[in-house]
Amino acid sequence: RKGSVIITGASSGLGLATAKALAETGKWHIIMACRDFLKAERAAKSVGMSKENYTIMHLDLASLDSVRQFVDSYKQSGRPLDVLVCNAAVYQPTAKEPSFTAEGFELSVGTNHLGHFLLSRLLLDDLKQSDYPSKRLIIVGSITGNTNTLAGNVPPKANLGDLRGLAGGLNGLNSSTMIDGGEFDGAKAYKDSKVCNMLTMQEFHRRFHEESGITFASLYPGCIATTGLFREHIPLFRLLFPPFQKYITKGYVSEEEAGKRLAQVVSEPSLTKSGVYWSWNKDSASFENQLSEEASNEDKARKIWELSEKLVGLN
Ligand code: NDP
Repeated sequence: RKGSVIITGASSGLGLATAKALAETGKWHIIMACRDFLKAERAAKSVGMSKENYTIMHLDLASLDSVRQFVDSYKQSGRPLDVLVCNAAVYQPTAKEPSFTAEGFELSVGTNHLGHFLLSRLLLDDLKQSDYPSKRLIIVGSITGNTNTLAGNVPPKANLGDLRGLAGGLNGLNSSTMIDGGEFDGAKAYKDSKVCNMLTMQEFHRRFHEESGITFASLYPGCIATTGLFREHIPLFRLLFPPFQKYITKGYVSEEEAGKRLAQVVSEPSLTKSGVYWSWNKDSASFENQLSEEASNEDKARKIWELSEKLVGLN
């Protein structure tokens, strides 16, 4: 049978390019988990995906009710789940004020981390039950949250501090909107959310890899400077960022190439190692990359896991 893979945020950028790459193999049925049905349908058509290779299902990660409804509908569909890709993200580098999810969490961490945390926890049993030869849970990470790299040291740097803002609910009422308890900063909130993504992947690995055989992985696909992620940046930035990444940092990667990389992490028989953060070198060969101190801190990973469980109502 074909493998069944859910990709969140498959309506643009990396998620769409990955859906396309997997569809082209003919070996996968892609469930595009998207907040805008029409946009997702147009996107799938625009890259030439044929109808029998994909299904669009509604998912708004900025609402925990929507996450629960998505999971219920998925279970009711009777489809097996072989791979889950947590890819969607929001990035608000120029926001002066925070925005919030339906439950009142700061939007970047609420969507990128908490929404995906609940989704993957609720779908873990379905992954466990899959009889597919290699079942995987993939959470897209980033270099920007990784302070052992040059890009990760561009201010404002990711820093989760003692997690006091997360413990307080990130709501701006009786707590800060930032995980570390600091002043709101949209670029930092995104980077913090990516650190949470990378820590969550490792915590999943420690708790569930041995018993379930599921491969838990994260990756940095390269700098895909052309995606919608930068849509809220100032126009001058959007003009100069792609050539800067292409010619100066040489970290630039096309959406198509990045999609092929994530598709490898979904399906390559050689990439089954669990607990790994994949990156690619100049020749587009994959390697196991190192994470920064904070993005591999076991104590923080456990605390974030426990605090996140409380916030999303899992205990
Ligand atoms: P895009 O903005 O193109 O794609 C993000 C996707 O997330 C869109 O499909 C968007 O939906 C979706 N999304 C946003 N909010 C929600 C929500 N509340 N519910 C459901 N879906 C939502 O950005 P990229 O393709 O660049 O980003 C994809 C991943 O790659 C992210 O995890 C990002 O952190 C990561 N990444 C990107 C890099 C880059 O250089 N671009 C580098 C490293 C990592 P919609 O289409 O409706 O807006």
